[in-house]
Amino acid sequence: MKAAPADMTTTAILDATRGVLGNAPRPVLLHGPDLRGRAGDYVKECIDTAWVSSAGAYVDRFERELAATTGARRAVAVVNGTAALHIALKLVGVEAGDEVLIPSLTFVATANAVSYCGAIPHFVDVEPGTLGLDPISLEQRLAMIGERVNGRVVSRETGRRLAAVVPMHTFGHPVDLAGLMEVCERWGLPVVEDAAESLGSYYRDRHTGTFGRLGILSFNGNKIVTTGGGGAILADDEELADRAKHLTTTAKVPHRWEFIHDETGYNYRMPNINAALGCGQLERLEEMVALKRRLADTYRDALADVRGVRFIQEPPGCRSNYWLNAIELDEGLAGDRDAILAALDDEGIQARPIWRPMHQLSMYQSCPRADLLVTERLARRIINLPSSASLAG
Ligand SMILES: *Cc1c(COP(=O)(O)O)cnc(C)c1O
Repeated sequence: MKAAPADMTTTAILDATRGVLGNAPRPVLLHGPDLRGRAGDYVKECIDTAWVSSAGAYVDRFERELAATTGARRAVAVVNGTAALHIALKLVGVEAGDEVLIPSLTFVATANAVSYCGAIPHFVDVEPGTLGLDPISLEQRLAMIGERVNGRVVSRETGRRLAAVVPMHTFGHPVDLAGLMEVCERWGLPVVEDAAESLGSYYRDRHTGTFGRLGILSFNGNKIVTTGGGGAILADDEELADRAKHLTTTAKVPHRWEFIHDETGYNYRMPNINAALGCGQLERLEEMVALKRRLADTYRDALADVRGVRFIQEPPGCRSNYWLNAIELDEGLAGDRDAILAALDDEGIQARPIWRPMHQLSMYQSCPRADLLVTERLARRIINLPSSASLAG
């Protein structure tokens, strides 16, 4: 079969996207928040009572509701997802000079949080199906460079300790957790799940972010549930959760009046006014997931007959929140990606390429890495389409 000419594909993608978006007012954002429901009442209550900052009932309530929603024993609310990752990595034992295995195809926060620990990201390839960390790439990389020394895993290549693995659920699609957990358990490597994009997504019947030793969520303004800015650490281990709370609240020792801090802590606690917004948002999570799944169905149907384009779908046996809708262009169309983005942009339709891979960013280009063939291939070919819940017809 002959490849579709690029301009025909561009037109077909434009037509399909126009059809999905209907007469939604232009510009159509890639992802905007949906703040309907009781969020406004809760925020107003914070203002009326002056409980807006780092103490107040909404933070505890938000944490309880997050735990109930995800099935994690505990949730600790913090200022953003990056801060959550930073503390989670510290708590599983990542130290300065260690390496942490992460996908290169991720948002920069995953790599930055590793750097905040003084550690070095070590990039592993992703799977074309889930767009997430590939258990086979991880296994092969460990087999090639990993060595067990006195109960630790050390890189033969750099001599540094391999301290943890951070899988990420790209665009809300659950990564192959069974495969990854098996490899990590065999090597004795702790897992921190970057579930920043996957609140409401389930791997089989269990919520993402609850498989690793710790998991993290983000409530940035562009995520499925927002607190303005915010994040959370998910834990099943009470002691780790207590440590997370302590470290994120300046490591203050509880006392009626004394200011005593027993280690260098962080001012990472989520403010009450943000948690109030989050409580209102979380009440609508299932409604939001349903809307986003309906929007994804509409995109999938509209794009089904467009040659050279694959609509990215949830992996079998999983429920994705379809946070961001994504298409993958055939290899022959990779060179036309920017023309397609421009054509959409010209019509006030905000589409975006997937992130520039971490190993291609200046500050991470000399980090250790596996072969990243799939990452490099996908990075040139994936486009995100407008995904706000309000667009579901
Ligand atoms: C959003 C996001 C984060 C955290 O971002 P914050 O803006 O700090 O809340 C982390 N990892 C991934 C993959 C993300 O998409």
